[in-house]
Amino acid sequence: MYKIMEADVVVAGGGPAGINAALAAGRQGAKTVLVERYGFLGGMSTIALVYPWMTFHTMQGKQVIAGYAQEIVERLMAKNASPGHVRDTCGFVQTITPYHPEAYKLVALEMLREAGVKVIAHSFLDEAVVEGDRIQAVRLATKSGRIELRAKTFVDTTGDADLAYFAGAPILKGREEDGKTQPMTMKFRMKGVDLQAVKQYMIEHPEEFYRKTPVEELADLRLTAVQGFYKHWKEANLPINRDQVLFFTGPDEDEVVVNMVRVQGLDGTDVEELTEAEELGRKQVVMISEFMKKSLPGFAHASVTQVGTQIGVRETRRIDGQYALSMDDVVTGRRFEDVIARSGYPIDIHDPSGKNVTAAWIDGDGAYDIPYRCLLPKKIDNLLVGGRCISTSHEALATTRLTPSCMATGQAAGTAAAMAAAAGTSPQSIDVKRLQEVLKQNGAILA
Ligand SMILES: Cc1cc2nc3c(=O)[nH]c(=O)nc-3n(C[C@H](O)[C@H](O)[C@H](O)COP(=O)(O)OP(=O)(O)OC[C@H]3O[C@@H](n4cnc5c(N)ncnc54)[C@H](O)[C@@H]3O)c2cc1C
Repeated sequence: MYKIMEADVVVAGGGPAGINAALAAGRQGAKTVLVERYGFLGGMSTIALVYPWMTFHTMQGKQVIAGYAQEIVERLMAKNASPGHVRDTCGFVQTITPYHPEAYKLVALEMLREAGVKVIAHSFLDEAVVEGDRIQAVRLATKSGRIELRAKTFVDTTGDADLAYFAGAPILKGREEDGKTQPMTMKFRMKGVDLQAVKQYMIEHPEEFYRKTPVEELADLRLTAVQGFYKHWKEANLPINRDQVLFFTGPDEDEVVVNMVRVQGLDGTDVEELTEAEELGRKQVVMISEFMKKSLPGFAHASVTQVGTQIGVRETRRIDGQYALSMDDVVTGRRFEDVIARSGYPIDIHDPSGKNVTAAWIDGDGAYDIPYRCLLPKKIDNLLVGGRCISTSHEALATTRLTPSCMATGQAAGTAAAMAAAAGTSPQSIDVKRLQEVLKQNGAILA
């Protein structure tokens, strides 16, 4: 009835966290299988056109995320598929990292093959076989029939904590008071944009843009991000609960990726609501792109060239783990003994019901620590979590969910999973100091 397969480590979900988790486990010598429901890797970066990656640095410009995430950027740069870390011209953060999504799909596969990881695509993980406090196997729905995948240690990088949920680990969703989550956004690419005209307009009308936009330096900077056009957006008066225009330039010279759709009040883990969100999202893409062509300088000859394969989902389930990172931990730049990753990205909450984005910046050296305990669920002993669904509050998730942080927690989860599998122990019992040493040897920045 089931095709049986075996591994040391199974990683569920081939997004930024899962790619780095599987890379880490494979490079540690674990027999590793990575499961992905789509036919390609990259998660929200490729499925939903989330772009650019932000950020590897603090507001002061210190790099705090490196390791395999940095290696991926360098591989992309070598293929001319990323300019590396560049200045954020809307000033929300110090650097952003544009990349070509198609190149990322292939670079990820190339690196995983080199690390000896087996990738099984087109496979949806829909069941966990649990005995006591251990997952014995996961089951996959595939076109070739059901697969049972047995392993010593499992890593959940599904973004939605699917595996933790199916295994019966406690999970949380949304904000504490009402369970509401951040909105979903259908992202899209437009080509044929005259970016010089956009830049010129920004220089001449600085008051119409985000207050941190480095307008005095714009003439000498490559335009990478634009936030504002408040007047144009207000005048358009579209039925979209958002307060401004936001787009990023690239990956091509005359191209932008637009982040403006806002679908609120629907649950990204409920398929009926997700189906509704897809339709609403696509309708908003038409409204927004028509507004941009008609009203924004530089867009008269632009056209939509690609819309996300699916709507981008910012927030759903997260584990209720051994420690939940809080807003206070983030904004005070708190240090932890069991740090496994750091991030300098501020809290950035797209309002679950209103028009705004709420931001909060990080004190101290501009970065906060993510402790190992955030990767460990309660109740299930041989499971680790990486990426968007690690254990945090709703507010702290609004920074740990960013792609570079997900890559970093993914690397940590995969490394720990391989260590636990090799030692025949649980991820809860591994030597965290040793884990930190291995992470540092592999480029992670923990101080
Ligand atoms: C609209 C939007 C804008 C954003 N803007 C930015 C930005 O500008 N910069 C930035 O750095 N980050 C941004 N983010 C955040 C970032 O994209 C995500 O939080 C990040 O991709 C999460 O990585 P992940 O690997 O944890 O999960 P995901 O990227 O969601 O990857 C999860 C993977 O698991 C697979 N999967 C899920 N469930 C199953 C299952 N049951 N079986 C098999 N496979 C499964 C999925 O197909 C996917 O490939 C944005 C997110 C959204 C939605």
